[in-house]
Amino acid sequence: MKKRIYLDYAATTPLDPRVKKAMEPYFSEKFGNTMSLHSFGQEAKEALENAREIVANFMGAKSSEVVFTSSATEANNFALKGIAFANKDRGNHIIISSIEHSCIIESAKWLESQGFEIKRLKVNKQGFVNLKELEKSIKKETILVSIMHANNEIGTIEPIEKISKIIKTKKSKLKTQIYFHTDAAQTFGKIPVNVKKLGVDLMTVSAHKMYGPKGVGALYIKEGTKITPLLHGGGHEMGFRSSTVNVAGIVGFAKACQIAKNEMEKDAKRLRKLKEKLVKGILNKVKGSHFVGDLNNSLPNIANFWFEGIEGESIVIELDLLGIAVSTGSACSSEKLQASHVLLACGLKPWQAHGSLRVSLGKWTKEKDIDYLLKVLPQVVEKLRRISPFKL
Ligand code: PLP
Repeated sequence: MKKRIYLDYAATTPLDPRVKKAMEPYFSEKFGNTMSLHSFGQEAKEALENAREIVANFMGAKSSEVVFTSSATEANNFALKGIAFANKDRGNHIIISSIEHSCIIESAKWLESQGFEIKRLKVNKQGFVNLKELEKSIKKETILVSIMHANNEIGTIEPIEKISKIIKTKKSKLKTQIYFHTDAAQTFGKIPVNVKKLGVDLMTVSAHKMYGPKGVGALYIKEGTKITPLLHGGGHEMGFRSSTVNVAGIVGFAKACQIAKNEMEKDAKRLRKLKEKLVKGILNKVKGSHFVGDLNNSLPNIANFWFEGIEGESIVIELDLLGIAVSTGSACSSEKLQASHVLLACGLKPWQAHGSLRVSLGKWTKEKDIDYLLKVLPQVVEKLRRISPFKL
């Protein structure tokens, strides 16, 4: 079989074999429903609460502040819509950044259609949110600020602690309650993430970005936060989210947290070195290539580039033929290619954003994988430029 190299860890990660092993009994012999009174149910309930404790502990929260969801997408929808509807008597103003994941962008757009006012903060060339604009934008009617911890396309880490301080100061000046939510789907399990240190009221995380299973996420909800559930029913998850609980997935999420706690620092150090090699290598070897983001305040595993005169999608396809899986910042819609909203917000022109490529590394990326990419990419870019109608 052809050699395959996976460099798209920001999209999803493979399941760690240790996580798989921890999950296995919960598909078969320990299959109970956590709401059942009998021993099968109680066994599942115990596993759920044990997992909740581990996940909560890893983010510096209390167990009662962690609500499991089906994904980060659901957790983000819950945070925005749940806070908006529970607090609409106090105000209708919500602030987000212009580089949020589509599940925040689209939830905000929908809330706008329901009468909420949405402020989208600008970012600079590296993707950092404009803090002055944030300070100026907060008003009496503001009920929620949602700014992602790190961006999924360019890896830039936002100054969440500083943002929290700005919100707290404005909050006490305006004598109002403003909740602060962060989407930590890309940072949880990769770099230290602590809700107290970050100073957030709500935080989204996802298991499949950190070697856990797909279909499991969580929302941290600080004690005392006024939020409305999205899913009504049997009152699972302390009444915050009804639906029979995905015990196997949650047990896997907790195992992924335990592994990350021990290994993430070592992994991050190694990956940062590989990322630096990759960035230097591409900029040196490929004429007309550009790095997007910030090398210092960014995730150790995500690097974004754009290449003059060619489409990112063509590079992805050519590299795939050579066995390398990467992705592009551009989302492909059925009829036309749309440039990434993140790259456009960072000031790239649409023709520049169309030439974008995201390379994301992970636990099983080896130095020889980066060497292979650096060997074949210049030839791929050259070939595509030869057949491209745009000339350099
Ligand atoms: N938020 C960010 C920053 C992400 O990168 C992703 C995944 O791409 C999501 C949210 C959605 O995560 P999930 O696949 O768990 O719904």
